[in-house]
Amino acid sequence: MYYHPEESFKRSELDKLQTERLRAVVENAKKSPFYGSLLKDFDVSELNTAKDITKLPFTTKDDLRSQYPYGLLTRPLDDFVRLHASSGTTGSPTAILYTQNDIDLWAALMARSMYAAGIRRSDVLQNTSGYGLFTGGLGIHYGSERLGCLTVPAGAGNTRRQIKLIRDFNVTVLHIIPSFALYFAQKVAEEGFDPAEMPWKIALIGAEPHTEETRQRIEELMHIKAYNSYGLTEMNGPGVAFECTEQSGMHVWEDAYIAEIIDPATGEHVPEGEIGELVMTTLTREGMPIIRYRTRDLTRFIPGQCACGREHRRIDRIAGRVDDMFIVKGVNIYPMQIEQVLMSMPEVGQNYVIELIREGFMDQIRVKVEVKEDYFVEDMRVLQKLQKSIASRLCNEVLVTPRVELVMHDSIPKTAGKAIRVVDLRDKEEEG
Ligand code: AMP
Ligand code: ZN
Repeated sequence: MYYHPEESFKRSELDKLQTERLRAVVENAKKSPFYGSLLKDFDVSELNTAKDITKLPFTTKDDLRSQYPYGLLTRPLDDFVRLHASSGTTGSPTAILYTQNDIDLWAALMARSMYAAGIRRSDVLQNTSGYGLFTGGLGIHYGSERLGCLTVPAGAGNTRRQIKLIRDFNVTVLHIIPSFALYFAQKVAEEGFDPAEMPWKIALIGAEPHTEETRQRIEELMHIKAYNSYGLTEMNGPGVAFECTEQSGMHVWEDAYIAEIIDPATGEHVPEGEIGELVMTTLTREGMPIIRYRTRDLTRFIPGQCACGREHRRIDRIAGRVDDMFIVKGVNIYPMQIEQVLMSMPEVGQNYVIELIREGFMDQIRVKVEVKEDYFVEDMRVLQKLQKSIASRLCNEVLVTPRVELVMHDSIPKTAGKAIRVVDLRDKEEEG
């Protein structure tokens, strides 16, 4: 029923394993220059249960930057075989290095994740992620091969060739970024193919925040089951938390990671079930262990047990990033609140962008929304009504009334990788 024996571990077994592994991680981490000095006086005998992890300090993105490139390695460079880098566009880069063992364990985690989403070795998987430094390429690729699937490393872009490969090789599983999935579904139809007739059954969607409404849209447009896949380069890449076939939150693989959820302001754990910042610790990576990494991603633990029987705790879909939030007219707003409203409206097309602008002395939001072709009729009154209705629904959700600009379908440029949802124009243009 499961791919890996540790998936069937009961809570008490997981707790015991995590405690043992946490101690080993700290011992190992101390061999690196960074943790060697940070944890010099820390004695692992203080770790009596996995909950004692709170006695350890956090590691931040800035730490990784300041230690770039080798400050967190626990062994000689000769032992490493692979490097990936986070796709962040701000600041200096952070790089993660992997030993052969680390690559093998990661591939096994990925294979397990795919199996949990119902993928089997008889499936054919096409990976539409960019290969290269981004972990969504090789990470998914190695996992898929490990599971035994025929794996098509299509890479990003070139929609026509993607469609041809899918049809020629009966691709049953797609790994696809949600914003690209929406665009892709539209392109398939434009190329004259009926998405319902495509051989695909399963889409693994992840790498960027998206709402339940977006998932449903992808499932309806593509006639596919879409499973949420969460990961980040600092924790290897994909395969950190994954939805099982129940589609009710993502299981964190707790034999390989410890997950915590904290109040980003105080660093304290939030009450069970409440939303906060996800903090992650690697339990099995030997070459470059990372302890209590502040992911900046916002989520919550889903209370209770999953119907699939796995006791690995589930996290909810990522609600956004701590740094995604913007404040307009004194109100805190997350892009996903806006996406949720837009994607629930049938007239709205597959893409949107949120612009932060300045009107006089006030900050304001302008939401550019693609409208489906059928709705983009000549009659101005219809469009005006739609514009008003979007604005008022957004106001109900975010408590300020944004400017809404309706644009033609396919007119907002689609980036190759993760979608850019918020553009800050406040210092760029003055609005009257
Ligand atoms: P990178 O390390 O460059 O691949 O980026 C990792 C980041 O992508 C995470 O910290 C999240 O912000 C985002 N991310 C990855 N998977 C998901 C997902 N399933 N849902 C929402 N955001 C995700
Ligand atoms: Zn489950």
